[in-house]
Amino acid sequence: ALQAPATLSSDPQDILQEVFGYDAFRGEQQDIVEHVCSGGDALVLMPTGGGKSLCYQVPAIALQRAGQGISIVVSPLIALMHDQVGALHEAGVAAEFLNSTLDWNQTLAIEGRMQRGEITMVYVAPERLSTPRFLELLDGLRDSGRLALFAIDEAHCVSQWGHDFRPEYRSLSILHERYPTVPRIALTATADTLTRADIVERLRLEDARQFVSSFDRPNIRYAIVEKKDPTQQLLRFIQNEHPEDAGVVYCQSRKRVEEMAQTLNDAGLNALPYHAGLDASVRQRHQDRFLREDGIVMCATIAFGMGIDKPDVRFVAHIDMPKNIEGYYQETGRAGRDGQPADAWMAYGLADVVNQRRMIDESPAGEEFKQAMRGKLDALLALAEATDCRRVRLLGYFGEPSQPCGNCDNCLNPPEVWDGTDAARKLLSTIYWIRKQQGIGFGAGQIMDIVRGKPTEKVLQHGHDKLSTYGLCAELSEAQLRGVLRQLIAIGALQVDAAAFNTLVLTDASRAVLKGEVPVQLRASISSPTPRASRKER
Ligand code: ADP
Ligand code: ZN
Repeated sequence: ALQAPATLSSDPQDILQEVFGYDAFRGEQQDIVEHVCSGGDALVLMPTGGGKSLCYQVPAIALQRAGQGISIVVSPLIALMHDQVGALHEAGVAAEFLNSTLDWNQTLAIEGRMQRGEITMVYVAPERLSTPRFLELLDGLRDSGRLALFAIDEAHCVSQWGHDFRPEYRSLSILHERYPTVPRIALTATADTLTRADIVERLRLEDARQFVSSFDRPNIRYAIVEKKDPTQQLLRFIQNEHPEDAGVVYCQSRKRVEEMAQTLNDAGLNALPYHAGLDASVRQRHQDRFLREDGIVMCATIAFGMGIDKPDVRFVAHIDMPKNIEGYYQETGRAGRDGQPADAWMAYGLADVVNQRRMIDESPAGEEFKQAMRGKLDALLALAEATDCRRVRLLGYFGEPSQPCGNCDNCLNPPEVWDGTDAARKLLSTIYWIRKQQGIGFGAGQIMDIVRGKPTEKVLQHGHDKLSTYGLCAELSEAQLRGVLRQLIAIGALQVDAAAFNTLVLTDASRAVLKGEVPVQLRASISSPTPRASRKER
């Protein structure tokens, strides 16, 4: 049965109650809806679970009821479109999708209904939107004044700085050029300042009002541990804190996904692998089981997660370090969408950093891009190395000031810190003198052997036992020195040159540390691994 526009209220508040069954808008939803309904462009930054969908669905319904026609929703994932359209159907909204799962006749039928004004919202993939056929359809709608709104979901996909770049999104600049009078709303759950600027530029949203919600997810408890025996650390974490819960374990490679799923299964957990190398049908089956059954642990690459709306994921673990804070935030954000307590747990080590850096250095990208990626990796490293509130650091990265949260590992269990300034200066000056005297660089192992005074063959061969810093850090363990090196990398006072056998290279920021102007604070746990008290009681 068709809706009769004249008799239905186009008031957003009425639509919220009558169509969606909610009493009140949340956060900035009302402002956003009103802005869009009155014809303004908007860029909405709201965390996962914040309620982005209503920000365009309510306007789409209101505009349709007010006789302004159809809204076009650009969405990158077929699964996501299907879920959304299904939910809208249940709410009695005339929504459809156009994508590769439809045959020709189905497509024709929907196009016909669009032209006859029988559809309120149509979801399309970005690649469909820029086809001549679809543009012609849009032209017709525009010419008869029945093109109400463009909504661009997951807008960060337009940015190559983001973690999920989709080249098809680039063509969306056509919306502004071809339909300058049709309002646009772009939405994303993640965008640091660089990505945000990129979205604005690429989508031509210079005049859009920006709605930036708090990115805090107070129910998520962040914890980052130093890698020692990562598999055992992860097992202990799951068995102690989430023995029967659903969770996701992110791994860097397909091989690692498989190994991890096996290990967890062997330990009696209910784990499944998920990565792009698996058959589509296997992936689908595992995803379905994860959504439907209780207590499944999904071991996955980052191929898993986008568009998966499971409210009761109780933990997200990273056994390998992600590429940057945006990725970390996005992936950990899949925990606790129901607002109940959830854990974001990550293990990291120097090898991860070296690995990620090598991937950046060896990528075919341009130097500017690589530089940006290195900066982002460093920011994540600084978060991992932080001895103060993780949440303050995390939100700070997104430009949001906050107070210590009381719900992260560092707040709950303030780490003991020790002053590594002196060791840092000795390490840096060793690197400096070798490069100056011998014109070559060395990796972390050699530098640490020198300051610890270990007369290895390689140390003697290069005459490094003659350096003035030889043996000056004899009292420190390798683990402690590794911690100092990591911290130096985190604060940008040291770089790893992956193109030259991972040799250590000084930077502009090294000088201040060498001069003792910048203190280097480290977690004492690096030297004395004391087991954390169990949090079972919480
Ligand atoms: P996002 O896309 O930002 O991750 P969703 O749009 O999927 O978030 O919304 C997350 C959940 O919050 C959904 O279950 C949605 O129905 C619910 N929700 C959104 N807005 C409201 C509201 N104003 N009142 C009650 N529930 C809401
Ligand atoms: Zn905190």
